[in-house]
Amino acid sequence: MIKKIPFKLSFKIFQWMLVLIIAFSTYLGYQFYQVTFRAQIIENQRFWVVAQLGQYRSRTDSLSFLSRQYAGSLNRDYLIKYNADKKNQSALIKRNANLTDSMAKQVSYPSTVSSYHPFSVNERVLLNRAVLADIRLRELEKSAFNILLTTKSATEKDKSIEAILYSGDYIRINLEIMTLINKLLESVNKRFQAKVGEMEIERAGLVYTIPSILAVNLILLLVSFLFINKRMNNYHRELKNLTVKDFLTGVHNRKYLMETGPLLLSLNNREQSLAAVLMLDIDNFKLINDHYGHDAGDEVLISFSHAVSARLRKGDIFSRFGGEEFVLMLNKVTRADAENFANELREMLAAHQVPTDHGEIKYTVSIGVVMSNDASSLNSLLKRADKALYQAKRAGRNKVVMIKKERFSAALSARVHGA
Ligand code: GH3
Ligand code: MG
Ligand code: MG
Repeated sequence: MIKKIPFKLSFKIFQWMLVLIIAFSTYLGYQFYQVTFRAQIIENQRFWVVAQLGQYRSRTDSLSFLSRQYAGSLNRDYLIKYNADKKNQSALIKRNANLTDSMAKQVSYPSTVSSYHPFSVNERVLLNRAVLADIRLRELEKSAFNILLTTKSATEKDKSIEAILYSGDYIRINLEIMTLINKLLESVNKRFQAKVGEMEIERAGLVYTIPSILAVNLILLLVSFLFINKRMNNYHRELKNLTVKDFLTGVHNRKYLMETGPLLLSLNNREQSLAAVLMLDIDNFKLINDHYGHDAGDEVLISFSHAVSARLRKGDIFSRFGGEEFVLMLNKVTRADAENFANELREMLAAHQVPTDHGEIKYTVSIGVVMSNDASSLNSLLKRADKALYQAKRAGRNKVVMIKKERFSAALSARVHGA
């Protein structure tokens, strides 16, 4: 009968916990990657916006410079460069600046807009003001250029141009643009850094959480491996026992005898020593069963097995051959020693009493003995031991019969011992 191997529910729960924790740490790992990726994108956006604003600021500077150079020298190269620069409007500024103060108040951006909005509403107002100031500057420059074309006198020209391009108004507006752009840069940097800062905090949390969860994972995995290994070893031992041990008595079974018996024989043969094969059969066991019941019979079998096992030496094999019949192989013994040992066993068992629920049971055994040099194979030795056992039974039971070497006697003759 195969013992049902239980699979603990707790272990299943444990395994599922492990799966969940692994899934969770994978999710956290993904979060970490996401945060890192988003932070990188924001950094890139900040660089780009800052670069665009810087470009816008230097363009304003260069337009003032070119307009003054042209007004001073009337060199047309300056005018060409001036017109080219003016056309070269920054797309980013253009796209974000057409917003008045009142419009800005109405516009609200959700924080998670998918399209790219590099400026906040306040920043767009600042940008709008810078652009308006810029337009004002261009108008002043345009009026200065008109004077250049219409006025004849050089000193008049100089005076008028000075009154416009070097006027307090012109310088003030120029300064205003610079101030606005500086404010914008400050605001943009602050805002982006705040965003990146938030992500850094999120990332720092993950940086500590992920390794700790992985460590917990590792520990749980180790525990589960240890647990599985322990169970596997137990199963292995159990299965091995099931195949080589007798279920009732716990001694080896016939399969084990048939597998290891020949090894014992060849070992003795190689070392020029002898092994003995003893076949033991409980006398009138049927009567014990009939009289005391099958359960009591079982107890006798168990008690008998324990009693014999206690007398074994290392290398001996004791197995239940079938029913109430057992085979004992003695390793490295002489003929005389085997015979003496069989008799000692018989006497010891005959003196034995088995306490059962149905009272004390006494029993005797008959034993047939052969030596390993009496036959060539385990099978033939077993047959001969069985014959000896049969003779012991015939001689009245509770006897030991040892087969004489066939070489010396053609007919099967036996020496009968015992009571
Ligand atoms: P003998 O002295 O000639 O050996 O007589 P016996 O009654 O012992 O011989 P027999 O072989 O006729 O009977 C053996 C009995 O052992 C028959 C069977 O029911 C019983 N038996 C076999 N295996 C078990 C077992 O595992 N438990 C019990 N309780 N009885 C068993
Ligand atoms: Mg019997
Ligand atoms: Mg029998």
